[in-house]
Amino acid sequence: MTTDSHAPDGYQCPFCRIAAGVEEPDRGTKQRDVVYQDRRVTVFVANKWWPNNKGHVMIIPNQHFENLYVLPDDYAIDIHRAAKLVARAMKAEYSCQGISTRQHNEPAGNQIVWHYHLHVFPRYANDDLYASTGYYTDPEERVPYASQLREWIGRHRSATEPPERS
Ligand SMILES: [Zn+2]
Repeated sequence: MTTDSHAPDGYQCPFCRIAAGVEEPDRGTKQRDVVYQDRRVTVFVANKWWPNNKGHVMIIPNQHFENLYVLPDDYAIDIHRAAKLVARAMKAEYSCQGISTRQHNEPAGNQIVWHYHLHVFPRYANDDLYASTGYYTDPEERVPYASQLREWIGRHRSATEPPERS
């Protein structure tokens, strides 16, 4: 625990549960939202969407690190490799015109879940992402988006993975 840490004592981390394969209740993340997982990262369609950027994705390390300050370099590499993979999947499957990533640290940086996460948004001309308000989706609404991305990644994953580092 450092002074940059804001997780309360005994924090029950929702992202640790997702990485471990546990279903969240109600509108929370389901395992069918997961579009990619490897030894270090899990990628899933977010349960909170922005009105003109539907189907945006979150990338998390499988191990608990609260924020960017303490994220090991090896994880940073694998998180950005996954971001590149899912960005290409969104371009192909959502026909979006661009991609933006967002990553928040500490309350002043709008962080609300105390486990590092990178948002990957599909972007469209005049989509108003930064001025619009997010809302929580119905799990059923996420199914077609997750299926599209998971299938594209399944077809392209091996072609994009570099050889294992020694
Ligand atoms: Zn966690």
